[in-house]
Order: sequence, then C-alpha cells, then structure tokens
Amino acid sequence: MRDLIIVGAGPVGSHLAQKMQEKGLEVLLIERSDEIGKPLACSGHVSPDIWDFVPEEARDRLYQNEITGANFHTESDAEYSFYKNETVSYVIDRVELDKLKAEEAKDAGAEYRLGETVEKVEENKDGVKVLTDRGEYRASMVAGCDGASSTVRDQIGLPEPDHFYQGILCFSDENDPSDFVDVFLEVPEFFGWRIPRGDSVEYGAAVPKGENPQKWLNKITDGFIDQEEQRNICAGAIPVGPAQTVTSERVFLVGDAAAQTKPFTGGGILYGMRAVEKAAESIDVEDPDTLDDYEKAWRSELLNEIRAGKIFEKAYSWPELIQRSGLKIFEGEIGVHMDRPSTLLSFDQFRSLFR
Ligand SMILES: Cc1cc2nc3c(=O)[nH]c(=O)nc-3n(C[C@H](O)[C@H](O)[C@H](O)COP(=O)(O)OP(=O)(O)OC[C@H]3O[C@@H](n4cnc5c(N)ncnc54)[C@H](O)[C@@H]3O)c2cc1C
Repeated sequence: MRDLIIVGAGPVGSHLAQKMQEKGLEVLLIERSDEIGKPLACSGHVSPDIWDFVPEEARDRLYQNEITGANFHTESDAEYSFYKNETVSYVIDRVELDKLKAEEAKDAGAEYRLGETVEKVEENKDGVKVLTDRGEYRASMVAGCDGASSTVRDQIGLPEPDHFYQGILCFSDENDPSDFVDVFLEVPEFFGWRIPRGDSVEYGAAVPKGENPQKWLNKITDGFIDQEEQRNICAGAIPVGPAQTVTSERVFLVGDAAAQTKPFTGGGILYGMRAVEKAAESIDVEDPDTLDDYEKAWRSELLNEIRAGKIFEKAYSWPELIQRSGLKIFEGEIGVHMDRPSTLLSFDQFRSLFR
C-alpha cells in the first residue's frame, strides 16, 4: 500500500507529488494523458508569483512575454486602459510548466504512471482503493488533482463547484511582443481576450454553459485575423466557486478539482499551487483528522480573495453603461495585484487613484 496516490499530473498534482515526496512519503501519480501537459487548454497568463514555484534556472524555459497593462473593450467598443509601471503578469509556456513540475516531482522520487485513467475510487476506514483501466492500487490517502471535471470528486460523492464556464482559445502566427493584453466585455457573463505571446498571439473566450464558445471566439478574432488563421484551437472547463467541502474520510481535492480558481479570470494555476503548500503543511496521511486542518488552511489562504473575485465576476454581467462608469473610475495606473483582488482597496490602489 502506498502512502498517497495523486490523480492528475497537471501543475497542481505534480507540485503536490513533489512536496509530499519531499516529506518522506511514497507517492504514486496516475495521469491519463500519454504526454504531460498535453492536450493544452490554458493561456499560461500568471502573476509574477509564478516564480515562487519555479527554480531560477528554469525561468527562461517558461518565459514568453511580460505584461504591464490591459485594454478593456466594452460591447460598443469604448476602450479603457489599466497599467502598472512594473510587470503585472507573465505569459508562460504552460506545457513546459507541467513538464517542469513533473520533472521536479520525479527527481524527488515520485512514481509516475502515464496513459492510465482512473475510473473508480473507493474509500474505507483503513485506506483507499483506486481502479484504473490498467490495474488496481491502494493507498492511505488519495488526492484528486484531476481538474475541473474531476472523476475523484464524482466517485467519492463530493459536491461540485458552484458553476463552470467553457473556455476556448486559439493562436495566430502574428508577431507581437507588446506588453498589453486586451479584454473584451461583449462576451456574455465573462470575457474574451487577446494575449501577445512574442512570436504568436492568443485569442480566447470563456462563456457560460449553453453558449457556443466557437461563435464567441470568432467574434473576438474578427477584425484581427481571418477564421482560417485560427490555429491549435483548444477548449476546457473553468470551475468557479468551491463547494462547502473538498475532503472526505481519506480523499482530498486540490486545484481545479476543488475550484481553487480566481472567479474573475478563471485562472487557477497559482491558487492551486498555494493550496498545495497548505495541503503539504497540514495533511498527515496516517491521520484522516488532518484533512480538516487542510480545509481550514486553504480556505484561510484563499477564500477572502475568492469572495472578492466574485464581486468582479458579477461586474461582467452589468449593463454596459454601469460597466463604463466603473471602468472610468479606475482607469489609468492601478495598484491591484492580479491574484489578490482585495488589493483594490489597498493603499497602493488609493495612491494610484489620486495620482
Ligand atoms: C481556456 C482556458 C484558459 C486558461 N487560462 C489560464 C491562465 O491564463 N492562467 C491560469 O492561472 N489558469 C488558466 N486556466 C485555468 C488553468 O488551466 C487551471 O486552473 C489549471 O490547469 C489547474 O491545474 P490542475 O493541475 O488543478 O488541473 P489540470 O491542469 O486540469 O490537470 C488535471 C490533470 O488530471 C488528468 N486527469 C483528469 N482525469 C483523470 C483521470 N480520471 N485519470 C487520470 N488522470 C486524469 C488530466 O489529464 C490532467 O493532466 C485556463 C483554463 C482554460 C480552460
């Protein structure tokens, strides 16, 4: 019997594997894809906090561009600019991030099984049984890091996140090393985007269930490129709003499986990483009671920011006139940290407003 089985080798699963293996546990990670990081369904647009989770020497491998501001476009194409006099965010190679995190976990001693899909998870008083399309494994605990449509979550009967968006993106061969992203508010309830990535540009949209994502992607790319120039189109679900509990007797969820995401961008890489740190600090796989400590720890780390983020999320559905008034108040230099929406009420933000 292993100490811990982790399902899913996204950035969150691999980071957890590394941390738990470094604590001296025997960790098995099961990933359904044959290749780590593929298929891609993520922009890799992250705050500078990403470098807290990447060794200095690996930065060049991930770095694609840095961003200092954003142009927001309302439905009738009024434009409002927001910027900082420093880097607000980075555009990184998401496939390489996943590969890097997996290499670190393997170096720490974690065992990886690729191309194997977890189908069933059964927990009892003494441990957890995991059945895949290839075999059967047992562990003291199981971590569901298997993303938005988590099988582990469904198998254990843990509640689903509050709601999901459908994200879609594509790339074009435009050369654009500029440092502003574009955000399009014409998309219903969420937004569309254009991200310069240096030797390419990414376009994307995230829409609520019932909407046609490709239709909205076409609307975003329209005016920039022809539809035939959209390449590598990919899509994925974005969970928002964590459920009341993400733990059971011997199973816990981390990352998108637990909806540890920013409600106003759908970004989940860094919130997931921060939740991993809390899991590694608080969970003792021999003591199921420590799962309560994990629940408390990650909520105290992220919940206030998630609540603040939900206020911004609601603003995407405001009538355009109200959106424009709100954007007008805050346009110009900003003091907000991308992962900490509560910093909108910070001293830095007030200083920026009065400048
Ligand atoms: C279009 C789009 C754009 C995004 N852009 C950004 C962004 O710019 N910045 C940002 O921070 N976030 C972004 N996100 C969100 C980000 O992708 C997720 O928050 C992040 O991937 C979560 O990491 P994770 O490890 O929890 O899950 P995932 O990265 O989803 O990894 C889950 C892994 O589990 C595996 N798996 C699933 N089921 C099973 C199974 N039954 N058995 C075995 N393996 C399984 C999957 O193959 C996958 O490798 C975006 C999402 C979308 C859809």
